[in-house]
Amino acid sequence: MRKKLLLGNWKMNKTREETKVFALGSLALSALAELHGIDIGVAPAYLSLPVVKKYNPNLLVASQNVHYQPSGAYTGEISIAMLKEINITWAIIGHSERRTYDNETSERCNLKIKALLANEMTPVYCVGETLAQFEKSETKKVIKEQISAGFSEISSENAAKVVVAYEPVWSIGTGRNASSEIAQDVCSYIRGLLREKYGEVAEQIRILYGGSVKPENIKTYLSTADIDGALVGGASLSIESFKELINNMI
Ligand code: PEP
Repeated sequence: MRKKLLLGNWKMNKTREETKVFALGSLALSALAELHGIDIGVAPAYLSLPVVKKYNPNLLVASQNVHYQPSGAYTGEISIAMLKEINITWAIIGHSERRTYDNETSERCNLKIKALLANEMTPVYCVGETLAQFEKSETKKVIKEQISAGFSEISSENAAKVVVAYEPVWSIGTGRNASSEIAQDVCSYIRGLLREKYGEVAEQIRILYGGSVKPENIKTYLSTADIDGALVGGASLSIESFKELINNMI
């Protein structure tokens, strides 16, 4: 049985002080989630990573990015060793905003995924088509390329540790969420691709949906066969809404 997962992506939001308030407010939510067998966590800005760890050690904490090189002349980047030093073991890879603004390619994502797995860390690999690709019915073609490149040279043992997030770019931050039918269709397609490559191991891989998930719509996604949780931006920022998301997952 795949464990449900709710991961908040805070993007470039929340100061350290605001993070502290949220982390303290989430202590009871971690207990609630544990009681119901759900993993919950957030991906704050780099400076806030240790703040979440300090004030709610029970929340999963993910970096929003990481570099694949161990160290070097990469201005503005963060290394795996730096994350490990503060006990961060998860990282989001290939978010569409990084693909759009930072030219993140699936090939680069693959290097990052391999580096994380070599360090026993958990990558959350984001895939998804743009609006233009969606309108040209190219979703599955794009997804196939992203999954194939992202999982290149990854063993089945390691593949089981990756979390995949299907996030149609046209639904991120737009309020235009994909219907649960579309999301399930694509997530099932992703699982099928993983099954072709890894056989039964594909049944262990968690697949999230992301894109304008709100407390009002999270249930419809979670009631499908292949969606194991949600990657949530805007609706993960307030503790009230984060709580409602959890309540509606239970
Ligand atoms: C995201 O940032 O991954 C995301 C899905 O954002 P939102 O929920 O705001 O659409």
